[in-house]
Amino acid sequence: MRKELDEQLCRKYPSLYRDRHGDMRRTLMCWGFSCGDGWYTLIDVISELLTKHNPQAHAMQVKEKSGSLCFYHHGCDDYSLGVQMTAETLSQYICEICGAPALLNNDGGWSSTRCKEHASEYSVNDDLEEDIDISSVADLGLGAAWSRLALILKQSADWHTEKNGRPAAAFFINKSKTNGQLAIRFSGGDEMTAGMVDIIAGYANRIDERTGLIVIE
Ligand SMILES: [Zn+2]
Repeated sequence: MRKELDEQLCRKYPSLYRDRHGDMRRTLMCWGFSCGDGWYTLIDVISELLTKHNPQAHAMQVKEKSGSLCFYHHGCDDYSLGVQMTAETLSQYICEICGAPALLNNDGGWSSTRCKEHASEYSVNDDLEEDIDISSVADLGLGAAWSRLALILKQSADWHTEKNGRPAAAFFINKSKTNGQLAIRFSGGDEMTAGMVDIIAGYANRIDERTGLIVIE
């Protein structure tokens, strides 16, 4: 990540990134944000939520791994785990270079998340619209990019219920008539569900509802 963005995150969240220039024998944060600029907004939303939830939380390592964003931090609980794990899934749909909608590609054994423009000529970059079937959330009447986020939320929640025995949740998702933002309420679930909902709504409200391009850096 370029220097200005790195510095901006450290300025905005001094406590979360208190180890940014720490001793390398003690923290991996000394390597900074080891990913592309396209994930800056996602990291900003994660930082905002974790700091608000637990002012003592601090980042241990932020990096790209196998095309996904890994965000390790101290002070992890169910809520922040929901934020962290859902952000990791979300990063697989955001170009690591520019932040445009993207897919996780496998380029000769090397995984990366790239939009069409930034994918290498060797990678198999399928079409987002064709690859992600949003028909199951069509009744929400949201734009394509928000529909994909709603789908990611529902699928992630279902996955945690099925695989980890987390309590099932029902979601009420709509575009707020008062401020035009994506609003998500839920019943059932637990603290982890709250984290999942907050990262999805937080990111949704930084991108264009239809194109998925970042509108608020
Ligand atoms: Zn791109």
